[in-house]
Amino acid sequence: MTASSSARRSETTRAFDAAVIGGGLVGSWTAFFLARRGVRVALLEKGAVGAQSSGVNFGNLRLQGRHPTQFPLSLRAHAIWEQLEQLVGEDCEFAATGHLYLAFDEAESEKLEAHARAGESHGLAIERLDGAAACRRWPWLAPVVRAATWSARDATANPRLVTPVVARAAARLGASVIQNCRVVAVDRAHGGFRLATDSGLTVAAPQIVNAAGAWAVDIARCFGETAPLFAAGPPQFVTEPLPYRIVPSVQTVDGSVICRQVPRGNVIVAGYPRTASDPVANRAPVPPQKTLSTMAHLRRLVPSLAAARVIRVWSGIEGYLPDMLPVIGPSATTPGLFHAFGLCGHGFQIGPGVGAALSDLIVDGRTETPLDACSIARFQRPVVPDEKWTREFDSEAIRTGP
Ligand SMILES: Cc1cc2nc3c(=O)[nH]c(=O)nc-3n(C[C@H](O)[C@H](O)[C@H](O)COP(=O)(O)OP(=O)(O)OC[C@H]3O[C@@H](n4cnc5c(N)ncnc54)[C@H](O)[C@@H]3O)c2cc1C
Repeated sequence: MTASSSARRSETTRAFDAAVIGGGLVGSWTAFFLARRGVRVALLEKGAVGAQSSGVNFGNLRLQGRHPTQFPLSLRAHAIWEQLEQLVGEDCEFAATGHLYLAFDEAESEKLEAHARAGESHGLAIERLDGAAACRRWPWLAPVVRAATWSARDATANPRLVTPVVARAAARLGASVIQNCRVVAVDRAHGGFRLATDSGLTVAAPQIVNAAGAWAVDIARCFGETAPLFAAGPPQFVTEPLPYRIVPSVQTVDGSVICRQVPRGNVIVAGYPRTASDPVANRAPVPPQKTLSTMAHLRRLVPSLAAARVIRVWSGIEGYLPDMLPVIGPSATTPGLFHAFGLCGHGFQIGPGVGAALSDLIVDGRTETPLDACSIARFQRPVVPDEKWTREFDSEAIRTGP
């Protein structure tokens, strides 16, 4: 990313009220809400809309276990998820499956309890069960579970469908969705911004949103600010179709197993630690050993899946920050620039809320959704890494990290 003086000459210049860089879920929802409020908005995507993290994620819309500062945003997002089909006009396999959080020992049970209290303080209904009660209610669980919490409102959706559907809905509202169009240079011009792209198009707009996912720091640096963003992903796999029994989304609090079964029968499985991915080469490798070890954890928790055949593995290029909180809100250096990146593995759930809050900031100049904890300005001083940073990432991801 360079200042636009070094970019190649544009063939066409188009003017908009706002331009969004990055057609992931965050950028697509931002374009949707801006277009709905009558803003002439361009959504610029270097590849295909929803082809990165937003399209390859696990599909969990989890309210349990949110960072305490994130509940207002997360609940705002959830209300949007719950009316998804009415808003975007297409089915995205949204299902209120509920989320089952599991602990194996006393220390983990205390963590579950702390998460439950945080959720309840924001109005979430959490049911607590001991291991025996959990195994009676979900008989496919092995008696290795010590405690469980259950949130019925949590949900899942199909990530392969959602972002293109939201972008199509934004386009119907008047947004210009421009794919295969990489922003290669960005600069201030005439009191606004000028974005040069590799397609020959130049976009001029007084307000811009940096929703470029794991690539977003390239944009931020053009305006003299940065964040210690690094790219990683939780390796995932999917099994052959099996009889449909596991209705809720299941997660152990140690992150060793995260699984859900789709009504077609396939079981989607993820497990920490997350591994490094490469945003430059556009690769998210899955070490074979990683699949084998997650399969061993799964077998211990759900013995009936011991012989399940794995038919596909994948990961993604997700931007993480060491305090495990995203950057969302105005630039600290440049009026008219807004950032929304580094969603730290939680962005599928909060994505609609982020888009709605950004549209508030752009149209109204303020939002009711508290975003202070997400300010990019926090990186002007060293931040304290979250304990998850060392616990949930493998050594390679940490080595390539900040
Ligand atoms: C394997 C995996 C599992 C996950 N599971 C979950 C889950 O279960 N629940 C959950 O809530 N979250 C989950 N996440 C996280 C979630 O997917 C992300 O937080 C979310 O999708 C981020 O959306 P985004 O729009 O910020 O980023 P992206 O989806 O990465 O979108 C950014 C877009 O910007 C584009 N771009 C970058 N640079 C430029 C440029 N210069 N010009 C034009 N376009 C550009 C990219 O091509 C990309 O399409 C998971 C992530 C991964 C990888």
